[in-house]
Amino acid sequence: MIYDILIIGGGPAGLTAATYGCRAGKSVLVLEKETFGGQITWSPKVENFPGFVSISGAELGDRFMEQAMEQGAEVELEEAVSVSMEGEIKTVTCASGAEFKGRSLIIAAGAKPRMLGIEREAELVGNGVCYCAVCDGAFYKGKAVAVNGGGNSALQDALLLSEKCSRVYLIHRRDSFRGEAKLVEALKQRQNVEFVMNSRISALLGGDELEGIEVKTGEESREIPVEGLFVAIGHAPDLGAFGSLIELDGGGYAASGEDCLTKSAGVFVAGDCREKTVRQLTTAVSDGSAAALAACAWLDS
Ligand code: NAP
Repeated sequence: MIYDILIIGGGPAGLTAATYGCRAGKSVLVLEKETFGGQITWSPKVENFPGFVSISGAELGDRFMEQAMEQGAEVELEEAVSVSMEGEIKTVTCASGAEFKGRSLIIAAGAKPRMLGIEREAELVGNGVCYCAVCDGAFYKGKAVAVNGGGNSALQDALLLSEKCSRVYLIHRRDSFRGEAKLVEALKQRQNVEFVMNSRISALLGGDELEGIEVKTGEESREIPVEGLFVAIGHAPDLGAFGSLIELDGGGYAASGEDCLTKSAGVFVAGDCREKTVRQLTTAVSDGSAAALAACAWLDS
C-alpha cells in the first residue's frame, strides 16, 4: 500500500499531523520507534497545555494517539532508519527491515536526551545514570540521587524524586534556573532537596554501579554520595538518517520555517526536530497541524 502521508514520529507533532491528515481524507501511517506520545510521556504532570488544568504526560500522549486512531490513522511500532525517494514515492526502511511507502512524508522525529559527555557516562547508563525520572525513579526509592539541569525537566524530575528518594541534590551550572519559578518554589519547600548551584559534574564515581559524583563549584571539588544521577540537560535532534532530504542548521535541527517545508518536494518537518526558538507541547502540535495541511495541499496540487 502507498499511504498519502507517512509520518515518522508518534509524539505530539506526529500524532497531531495524523489527526489533521485523516480529517482531510488522506490515508496516514505513523511510525514510532519507542513510545507513542513521545517525550511528554515522561512528564508526571502537564499544567500548561490548554484545556487541561493538570494531566499526566502519559495520559495526554494516550489521548493524542486515541484521537488520531479514531480519525483513521494507522500506527506501527517501527524505527525508521532511512528514506529513499523514487520519483514522488518516498520509501521508509525500518530497523526491522520493514518498508513503508508514502506519497508525502512528515518527519516529526523529536529529539533525544542530551548526554553530559563525561567519562564513564555511557558505561553507567542503567547502573545509576538515567535520563528519565518517570521511567526509572522508582528504582531509587529511599536512596540519595542527583539531578543535573536547570530547565523544567530537571525541576520536575527533582520534585518527583523528592517524593520517594531520601535526598535529592539538584545540580545546575548557573545561579538561577531557566525553568518555571513555581516549580523552583515548590522545590524550596522540600526538606530533602539541596540546591548545588554554579556547579558542574566533573566525574562519576564507583565501580560497576554509580556510588557518587564529583562536583566542581569554581575551583572547589566535592564528592556527593548518590546511587542515581538523573541527567536532564535538554534534548538534541537525531536527524542523521534524513540528512539527504532536509537541510540541517548548525545545531543539527531541520532548517525549516513555520510552513514546515523542506528542500525536498513532499517532505515536511514538524515539532522539536525543527529549528525554532520555543520547543513546547503547544508549538509541537502547532507544527503538526501546519505540516499536515502543507502535505495535503501538496498532494492535492
Ligand atoms: P531546557 O529547557 O533546554 O533546559 C536544559 C537545562 O540544562 C538548562 O538549564 C541548561 O543550562 C542545562 N544544560 C544544558 N547543557 C548542559 C550541560 N552540558 N551541562 C550542564 N547543564 C546543561 O531542557 P528541558 O528542561 O528538557 O526542557 C525542554 C523544553 O520542554 C522546554 O521548553 C521546557 O519548558 C519544556 N518542558 C515542559 C514541560 C511541561 O510540563 N510542560 C516539562 C518538561 C519540559 P543553562 O540554563 O545554563 O543553559
